[in-house]
Amino acid sequence: MNQFMNAMNKGLKLGCIADDFTGATDLANNLVRAGMRVVQTIGVPDAPLAADVDAVVVALKSRTIPAAEAIAQSLEALQWLQAQGAQQIYFKYCSTFDSTPDGNIGPVTEALMDALESDFTIATPAFPDNGRTVFKGYLFAGNVLLNESGMQNHPLTPMQDANLVRVMQAQTQRPVGLIDYKTVAQGEAAIRERIAALRAEGVGVAVVDATSNQDLLLLGPALKGMPLVTAGSGVAIGLPANFGLKPSVQASQLPAATGLQAVVSGSCSVATNGQVAHFQSSGRPAFAIHPASLMNGQSDALVLQVLAWAAPHLKEGPVLVYSTAEPEAVKQVQAQLGVAEAGALVEHALAAVARGLVDLGVKQLVVAGGETSGACVQALCMAQLQIGPQIDPGVPWCHAPSAAGGVHIALKSGNFGTEDFFTKAFTVLA
Ligand code: ADP
Repeated sequence: MNQFMNAMNKGLKLGCIADDFTGATDLANNLVRAGMRVVQTIGVPDAPLAADVDAVVVALKSRTIPAAEAIAQSLEALQWLQAQGAQQIYFKYCSTFDSTPDGNIGPVTEALMDALESDFTIATPAFPDNGRTVFKGYLFAGNVLLNESGMQNHPLTPMQDANLVRVMQAQTQRPVGLIDYKTVAQGEAAIRERIAALRAEGVGVAVVDATSNQDLLLLGPALKGMPLVTAGSGVAIGLPANFGLKPSVQASQLPAATGLQAVVSGSCSVATNGQVAHFQSSGRPAFAIHPASLMNGQSDALVLQVLAWAAPHLKEGPVLVYSTAEPEAVKQVQAQLGVAEAGALVEHALAAVARGLVDLGVKQLVVAGGETSGACVQALCMAQLQIGPQIDPGVPWCHAPSAAGGVHIALKSGNFGTEDFFTKAFTVLA
């Protein structure tokens, strides 16, 4: 089996471990746009890679679980990636550096360094094109410091300090240093010189400044050969060139799209509400699922009703099935059912709808909502997704292979995408 795996994937260059699902897609999307063919896996696969690619992103859900569990899962991902022949490892976290003083960014970084016998790595969530800049070690979200951006009130990972050297040091045994903007601006040789100086001082992890995407491109060459890179998704734009790869249409090529088209939306964010309204105003058929109609064991019957409604419409073009609602309506349902219960009830029903739609012949499926996407991907038993062309920033089409020719699927987290996303997506694929 091992021989087979190595033979299949001798071209695997970058092995990535992402601490959440939509973050994994964001990273995969950046790598594709910089010229890599990429597969994203849902968790650590128990099978070899289904395609010959340049990079794999293993999507974990390890951001806020206990540190010991996050370490165990990350090391398992590392072992699988090493077995596939990955030449460099990339640990991907959120561009707002979400973590508590206990981690998990620091503990996972150090566990990966130990496993790779590496004495130095970098850490930077910078992605200037997306409004995340690091200056003198301080992280800005848009025009304000991280701790003034709203992130100071995050329910799980409140960020009350924007100084990443301090934040990282609080959760790391090894000394933490800084590669500042002046050094980065001078390019590869200066960055390598600074790395050598920091290493000589015993520094194990260096936060890196970047105030423009150009800085990330200058940083890239200096990371060539570093066993472990830790970053948000931004640093990825500078890495494919280290392996001799350039942006190309081939990197995002997926099998030709066939079959029927549908959208399933469980996101209640502002952008998604606008996208649902836009889809309806374009005259396309849409079915609203009200959580109340799923209660008392009525879910299965409603799913069958939705599918019976969809079947004739599908032949005419894309249909939308949604639970998307305005905040007031969502609050009412949550007060009645409880937040988690309402979420689980709706996710379960939408996932069953997604599976039913695929059984009806849908092979181009858009799913809106991070949690909703997770539920649908699970219900559809999708373990490996090949990443294709971008629809809007951060949202690519993906392809899940199967004996029946596979399904094209786009997973849109809440606030992503323009208003016409639900119709535009299908034209991108055509
Ligand atoms: P987003 O990416 O916008 O955060 P998610 O899918 O991650 O979207 O989260 C939306 C959550 O809200 C899901 O758990 C979903 O099941 C739940 N939900 C969807 N529609 C409703 C509704 N009408 N009332 C209450 N909860 C809902």
